[in-house]
Amino acid sequence: GKRMAGQNKQAAKASRVRLFVDMPIAAGVELPLESAQSHYLGTVMRLAPGDTLFIFNGRDGEWRAAIATLRRGAGTLLPEAQEKPQRAANGPWLLFAPVKSSRTELLIEKASELGAAELWPVMTQYCQSKRVKPERYRAHAIEAAEQCGRLEVPEIQPLAALSAVLEAWPADRRLMFCDESGGPPALEALAAAPPAPWAILVGPEGGFSTAERAEIKSRPYCVPVSLGPRTLRAETAAVAALSLWQAVLGDLRSGN
Ligand code: SAM
Repeated sequence: GKRMAGQNKQAAKASRVRLFVDMPIAAGVELPLESAQSHYLGTVMRLAPGDTLFIFNGRDGEWRAAIATLRRGAGTLLPEAQEKPQRAANGPWLLFAPVKSSRTELLIEKASELGAAELWPVMTQYCQSKRVKPERYRAHAIEAAEQCGRLEVPEIQPLAALSAVLEAWPADRRLMFCDESGGPPALEALAAAPPAPWAILVGPEGGFSTAERAEIKSRPYCVPVSLGPRTLRAETAAVAALSLWQAVLGDLRSGN
């Protein structure tokens, strides 16, 4: 039969894809895509010019944007309208001792999904890994934020010694110290604490030394907690601690 003009052209797709863009977003101001992003949109998601997706940059909320151009390794987006205003991120910081890199990457992904505001790799006495890969960490945090609907990517701090971090600690920020040697149940300890910004500290596979434990606990901002009767792997402890914190003090108290 006769082919109608435009028959082969797909109708524009409104996709649910979310992309982090590290640039200001404003209506009608075109944004360049990174090469990996254009590959993802074109080759992986099979999107084409005219199709829409969502973008965020941690400052301007979430926007609907249309793909303006898309070629191999390049492309542009056209922001159309803001769909969600930026919200203040008030999740806790997570201090963790880098473990094996696959497990650390898992920890970063899960902590990003569970709303950690900042990720602080800290060196402790029994740390197994002195190598950190900030760009890999960042890539995992971005991917998790894109996937889970967060409006910002958790910031990744440079590696520092735990003792130096504790020495320079902001006085008003409480530290939920996950102590494998035991302590008050986390739920009770969190519910009893006065309102404040928070951080969570999880140790390495080897745990904390006696001297470290004493030093951490001597800090006035320290709130020691137990995560129950089982010894959790570091990344499991991070997930459990963040979930408990979010349930008592954070956004797991509300729906979505
Ligand atoms: N090597 C240590 C031991 O044998 O006791 C275990 C360390 S654990 C694998 C890694 C980290 O997860 C700990 O330093 C702690 O921060 C946290 N963690 C694991 N289980 C915990 C629990 N039941 N209560 C509190 N923190 C826990």
